[in-house]
Amino acid sequence: MKKLILVVLDGLCDEIAQLKMGYMKHLEEVLLARKSTVVASLPTLSRPLYETILTGKQPYEHGIVHNLNRSQSQSKSIFHEVAAAGGISAAAAYHWISELYLNGDQNSVQHRFHLSGEAPIHYGIFYYEDHYPDSHVFMDAFYLLKTYQPDFMLIHPMNVDDAGHKGGVLSEGYGLAARRVDGILSMALPEWINAGYEIIVTADHGMSEDRGHGGGTARERHVPFWYIGTQTEVLPTEQVALKAFIMNCLEI
Ligand SMILES: [Zn+2]
Repeated sequence: MKKLILVVLDGLCDEIAQLKMGYMKHLEEVLLARKSTVVASLPTLSRPLYETILTGKQPYEHGIVHNLNRSQSQSKSIFHEVAAAGGISAAAAYHWISELYLNGDQNSVQHRFHLSGEAPIHYGIFYYEDHYPDSHVFMDAFYLLKTYQPDFMLIHPMNVDDAGHKGGVLSEGYGLAARRVDGILSMALPEWINAGYEIIVTADHGMSEDRGHGGGTARERHVPFWYIGTQTEVLPTEQVALKAFIMNCLEI
């Protein structure tokens, strides 16, 4: 099995990513990363699309079609596939990931740390405030990577989405949140590449000017997809194809 880190930047639209994320653009320019634009499934809401990214199913198939559904996923996710292949998974992510794959409707405080080694996510640190700093999410991820050397790691920061809900996709705050996380990626990625990880950076959905998302406008649906790794196949352009691509990268 190969090792892969999946970074899902919540709420990052492709158009603003192109304008603000100079480090990721640099990796593209010097051919260290390949880039596609992925069309997110509908509705462009977080919980349905975490499930679509991780299970490869459309929302009508996996049944998580709104954010208020707090039940556990009934589908086979990348975490399950990694565990079945004998690998280790970890996640530094919003608590909805823990609800979907570990605990169902849960107490966010009680389930902040999941370090028992129990599948499908063997090791997790989950936050529950949308303004929990992206820098801290990456520090949580660094801790899990160093301590448990997972084969598959999900990193899921929320500050871009949070800024979008405060000011909209064209606001100064949203652009600055994208710039900040690009800076964090510039500190993290060289280390992970040296450690032998393949890396994907993408988003669940984008953002609208009305400070919301859920609909079908280009800014809500079009998200970036960067890939750093050895696969030569054409990059996915539909979100529902991400799981299959990631399985190929992991060689599962
Ligand atoms: Zn949101």
